[in-house]
Amino acid sequence: MIETWTEEHDVLVIGSGFAGLSAAIEAREAGADVLILEKMRAYGGNSIISDGGIAAPATQLQEKHGIEDSANKMYDDMLTSGLGLNDPLLVRTLVDTANDAFEWSINYLGVEYLDRVDIFGGHSVPRCYTAKNISGATIIKKQIQKIQKLNISIVYSSFVKGLICNSAGAVCGVVVRKGYDYMNPDKGSDIFIKANKGVIIASGGFSSDVDFRTLQDPRLTKSLESTNKPFATAEVLRQAMEIGAETEQLSSIQLGPWASPDERGYGVGPQFSEYIVFQYGVIIDPTTGNRFVNELADRKTLSDALLSIGHPCIGIADSKAVTTSGWNIDHGLKKKVIRKFDTLDELALFYSVPIEKLAKTITDFNQSALHGIDSLYGKPFIKNSAPIKNPPYYAMRLWPKVHFTMGGLKINDKTEVIHTNGTVITGLYAAGEVTGGVHGASRLGSCSITDCLVFGRIAGENAAQ
Ligand SMILES: Cc1cc2nc3c(=O)[nH]c(=O)nc-3n(C[C@H](O)[C@H](O)[C@H](O)COP(=O)(O)OP(=O)(O)OC[C@H]3O[C@@H](n4cnc5c(N)ncnc54)[C@H](O)[C@@H]3O)c2cc1C
Repeated sequence: MIETWTEEHDVLVIGSGFAGLSAAIEAREAGADVLILEKMRAYGGNSIISDGGIAAPATQLQEKHGIEDSANKMYDDMLTSGLGLNDPLLVRTLVDTANDAFEWSINYLGVEYLDRVDIFGGHSVPRCYTAKNISGATIIKKQIQKIQKLNISIVYSSFVKGLICNSAGAVCGVVVRKGYDYMNPDKGSDIFIKANKGVIIASGGFSSDVDFRTLQDPRLTKSLESTNKPFATAEVLRQAMEIGAETEQLSSIQLGPWASPDERGYGVGPQFSEYIVFQYGVIIDPTTGNRFVNELADRKTLSDALLSIGHPCIGIADSKAVTTSGWNIDHGLKKKVIRKFDTLDELALFYSVPIEKLAKTITDFNQSALHGIDSLYGKPFIKNSAPIKNPPYYAMRLWPKVHFTMGGLKINDKTEVIHTNGTVITGLYAAGEVTGGVHGASRLGSCSITDCLVFGRIAGENAAQ
């Protein structure tokens, strides 16, 4: 039992990424006194290093670009990619409020997006919007401006060590290591902070927590790199489990198929592979010169296909694809993650691909592109797709990295955390990557930011009641 609370607030939010900041803003707007606890010395978590891609159906931007879409289509896409393991109510909530969250980011936060709509693997139509500068920082900075305007405090170097429950089992506060230093975890001292209305867990995923992720999926040892920041770890998830929280699909861990083994972390390559190669180009196995997958398949299908090949594969696109896409790839070329070749022969020589096989693969693919049907793997040819025949050619090696954890705390559509006995844990809410159920077996590209904004906002509104 806690004898001395150091301080008290209506709502405590753990984490300052998309989900935590959305929750804090809504809780404050609902009249609550809110404190955000952040273990690191800066705000933003993984959110700030993301690409800032958000998905929503039936938006004004889609209408402007002549794209027909609906919440039902997005619902079907998410369930297909999630292999039906998603919690249908959470998916329904997400697709029905995604456009509202997207509009909120534009009209309330003031986020600016590029005037384009992209399609990523597993989406049946283009419905992904990219924040200006192709960065999550564009969204986070606007959220922080709002946090400041609303006089919400964020305390840094404040590591949440434990959740405190009252005698009735309701969460009523947290233990915090104040003055925490990531490089020296023993630094600082413990304080107790009381939550009069609720605690919102928005502590992100656990892709960098090698111990916890190998407990869930033994293949994901330290031999596999992660795209996440090194502090994307599972301690708050574990703390919630200790007080009886139910979890969902912890072993559903997503690998990013667009990653390059020729750079550390997320790097600059994925913008080329995901926005250009997967949409307009091909992926080949360098030992055979053959394609082996629908390049626009969802991330799980693509990563599993790459892992089953057993070695890095090559993503290829031509100069027309680069121009059509509208993306600048100079950075990737400068870092030598992306390579440029005047001919396919040069490309084949560089990556030791049998040239005749590669030539046949490209010819077959080009025939398919002309007829609009990929008879081999069923890749959909999107608007402005064209045969790969315009030099120079661009290529990048592909090998998956641990990217996103679909599994996490079980919540209901009010973001209340569910106990293993099926009841709600009073006073405890969760949103963002720390939760499970929204994405099932595999998350579609751009759907995490939607998830964080939609459920972060719901958590804030409900915790403030
Ligand atoms: C490189 C990269 C690119 C991505 N691009 C996209 C994209 O374009 N579109 C998309 O939809 N998704 C993308 N994702 C995924 C998406 O960015 C994340 O899933 C999302 O940002 C998670 O947000 P969050 O608020 O749940 O957690 P985070 O942003 O990770 O924030 C969690 C915060 O909680 C803090 N915290 C954790 N534990 C504690 C503790 N014990 N005490 C106090 N604080 C704690 C952390 O320090 C962190 O600041 C990308 C991910 C990466 C890594």
